[in-house]
Amino acid sequence: MALAITEDCVRCWACLPLCPNEAISAGAAGFDIDPQRCTECVGDFAAPQCGEICPAEGALVDAWGHALNPPGSLGGAPVAAAAPAPGPRPGC
Ligand code: SF4
Ligand code: SF4
Repeated sequence: MALAITEDCVRCWACLPLCPNEAISAGAAGFDIDPQRCTECVGDFAAPQCGEICPAEGALVDAWGHALNPPGSLGGAPVAAAAPAPGPRPGC
């Protein structure tokens, strides 16, 4: 079994260096998981390392399409929430 990365990935790069099997790659089309390499971290960690670090809800799914971090589990994607609010900056 292997996990997969969906279009909800915000391309933050957080997961890539954590994978014990070098299954995650970053290409022009986005991030991808090699199903031949991904073991869902079984034997290496108690939980999938990519799922533990991923800040984007719905970005990682299992073989059945179930999100590791489903909508609402992280309170919304932190990357979007951290974006500065529109309006004049202090001192302007
Ligand atoms: S579940 Fe584990 S082995 Fe699979 S891509 Fe994520 S970090 Fe790599
Ligand atoms: S941690 Fe999540 S959002 Fe970041 S690159 Fe990996 S799959 Fe995409």
